[in-house]
Amino acid sequence: MTGYIGYRDAAALMQHGCIYEVKYGMGVFRAKSLMEAEGVLHGFTARVGGVSPPPFDSLNLRLGRDDPEENVRENFRRLCAREGIEEKSLTIVSFEHGNTVLRVNASDAGRGYCYEPLPACDGIATNDPAVTLVTDHADCGCIFVHDPEKKAVGLAHAGWKGTLGRIGGNLVALMAREFGSDPVRLIAATGPCICQKCYEVDEELALRFAAEFKTDACAYPGRSGKAQLSLEAAAAIQLMDAGVLPEHITLMEKCTYENPETLFSHRRDRNGTGDMAGFIKIA
Ligand SMILES: [Zn+2]
Repeated sequence: MTGYIGYRDAAALMQHGCIYEVKYGMGVFRAKSLMEAEGVLHGFTARVGGVSPPPFDSLNLRLGRDDPEENVRENFRRLCAREGIEEKSLTIVSFEHGNTVLRVNASDAGRGYCYEPLPACDGIATNDPAVTLVTDHADCGCIFVHDPEKKAVGLAHAGWKGTLGRIGGNLVALMAREFGSDPVRLIAATGPCICQKCYEVDEELALRFAAEFKTDACAYPGRSGKAQLSLEAAAAIQLMDAGVLPEHITLMEKCTYENPETLFSHRRDRNGTGDMAGFIKIA
């Protein structure tokens, strides 16, 4: 990138916003570009339509927390029924809060859901229709990638560590290496996450982002000693640095913190909360 102006010009070429659709009482956010693309199913769940009690109400899709496992599994079953996904295809990243990405295939289907966890990773990619890639979120960034030519998909959970570590760039590189994906053909989107205005961090961290991405576009001045971070801008910059075209990037720009009716937010609900899921598969 060439600074803030460079980013602003690129952002003008991107698509902004998302489509929210409620069916069977369950809501899903999607990027128009990926909805219109052939051969891919993707989405990001809202918190409504599940069975979990407060503070996980109600579609909590994170296993291994205080919400009983049978609730989370019932929530996943409802999502699968809504979307026409095979439950046994669900393959969930293992959340190292890092930047590791892995290729998965049919032999990994069910890992992190009904079989043993994957090795440490926050991003996964596949060209195998037997696998549904899943990540969990409640403020952290989500990056979807689809290659319509090679029929491959990738998904990343991108908290600040993974974002700073360019997990989105790593995902593009993995898809190029494993599937022969040409970055200029890739369609990418970010999911709902905490927005720049709501995401206050220490100034020192924001300076690291500005240095890594060579622009202030992802880090804005805040109160004394603080700054505001834009995970979506940082995701877009690293995707473009990896060769993805800005016109192929959608920023959903749906803030988890500001939408308590539809989205969980760990920063807002400090006494515990559930997680939404991002998912993508070859259809
Ligand atoms: Zn916000």
